[in-house]
Amino acid sequence: MSGKVYLVGAGPGDFRLLTLKGLDCIKEAEVLVYDRLANAEYLKLARPDAELIYVGKASSNHTMTQDEINEVLAVKAKEGKVVTRLKGGDPYVFGRGGEEGEYLLERDIPFEVVPGITSAIGGLCYAGIPITHRDYTPSFHVITGHLKDETKDRINWSALASMQGTLVFLMGLSNLNKICTNLMQNGLAESTPAAVINWATRANQKVATGTLLTIEEEVKKAGLTSPSLIVVGEVVQLRDKLNFFEKRPLFGKNIVVTRSRTQSSDLKAKLQELGANVFEIPTIEIVARQTDEIDETLNRLNDYTYVVFGSQNAVSLFFDRLYALRKDARALSNLKVVAVGSATAKVLEGYGIRSDFMPERFTQESIAELLESKLTNEDKVLMPQGSLARDILSTRLQTICQVEQLLMYDTVLNKNSKALLKEILDEETIDYITFTSSSTANNLMALLDEEYKEKVKTIKCISIGEITSKAMRNLGLEVYKEANPFTIEGLIECLCEA
Ligand code: SAH
Repeated sequence: MSGKVYLVGAGPGDFRLLTLKGLDCIKEAEVLVYDRLANAEYLKLARPDAELIYVGKASSNHTMTQDEINEVLAVKAKEGKVVTRLKGGDPYVFGRGGEEGEYLLERDIPFEVVPGITSAIGGLCYAGIPITHRDYTPSFHVITGHLKDETKDRINWSALASMQGTLVFLMGLSNLNKICTNLMQNGLAESTPAAVINWATRANQKVATGTLLTIEEEVKKAGLTSPSLIVVGEVVQLRDKLNFFEKRPLFGKNIVVTRSRTQSSDLKAKLQELGANVFEIPTIEIVARQTDEIDETLNRLNDYTYVVFGSQNAVSLFFDRLYALRKDARALSNLKVVAVGSATAKVLEGYGIRSDFMPERFTQESIAELLESKLTNEDKVLMPQGSLARDILSTRLQTICQVEQLLMYDTVLNKNSKALLKEILDEETIDYITFTSSSTANNLMALLDEEYKEKVKTIKCISIGEITSKAMRNLGLEVYKEANPFTIEGLIECLCEA
């Protein structure tokens, strides 16, 4: 029995420039075939058991030929599998999607093609260049810049030079000189605006602008490499006005986010939205405890009058266990519920529960003060939290009433991150590192050898709050800025100001 192949346009690079149908095909795939133009983040959306096959070229390594790629698609589909072939941009815009389709048809393998946003249009858009505009151009032309053989290239340079259309060359950077020369020799003015867009729509997008005469020099100055789009035409002038993408507050900033796997995506997504190039280092990992003590406690919640959640993870693990015991939020109906921070309160709301009190500042000290004004010696407090939670709150409350800590999880060092972190420090120029807790700071430094520790000390470090700052200083890190309020939002604001 034959499976099926989806040839999916994965868009120009920005993660969210993918169609809903493309997303479905990724999720459904048993085999995912991809190359370097499709955003690698899509791989994370695949089923955990999906086979991932890279068919692009990695600088020095062997490149799969088109025949080999066709073969991979056919063989896997013949095994009865659902195969999704992710292609940058649109499969039919210089994507050889047509050839792949023909090959599959000859072998009676069912296939579908899912169009994508081509870099020729979407890439220009993110550089602030509309491919058409009534005041400037009556047409656009997308042309291969992969000029192998003058006689066989079949490019009608004089027609291109005379039509006043926007010209977009793909795969053309190494022939930039030839392209500009041909256009000028065929009558296009030297002063015609031109742009080259490198890694369009990605956080590392870079653009050079000039004219047919100067663009080559500008590209050299800016150090642009492949993949790049070449645009020639009057619409390039609109870039100054319409460049929304590069005008975002954190555009072009390389930011390392240190946080536990389960928590970082929120911060990461927000920073990306503001334009940052985010490197996520999961320095710490949350390992849930599965003890009889937890279950036994959850079975007698009515013994308590208060439950004080110490972290977002504590909330989610608490409810995971509660549900596993076939209970729900009603188990807390006789208790006052308190969250130690706004993010924790938000997670709690996701489970249908409002925190009874919210402190003005999010420190254990301010929560302690607030609770001290409410508690009597009749009360009994349950505190679900991680094993690294500071004792200050429980110590203070214990002077008033009975307090029990319930350890929901341990925070451990994520050893896999060591290599990743070194690679980033070696290859990228990092603008900021964010620390969202003392343990992220301690763990990041614990992952590194002396040489790399020194490197980190030269980078601007942003802290989420005073306790974290203290831990950072103890490690020899200078606190470049500290969030106020001590929340993820505060941290983001702080980065935007920096
Ligand atoms: N099917 C793709 C094009 C594949 S040909 C599409 O529709 O976009 C590969 C060429 O596309 C590259 O050499 C480059 O010129 C261009 N390209 C694709 N993605 C790009 C990006 N994010 N930034 C700049 N150029 C890109």
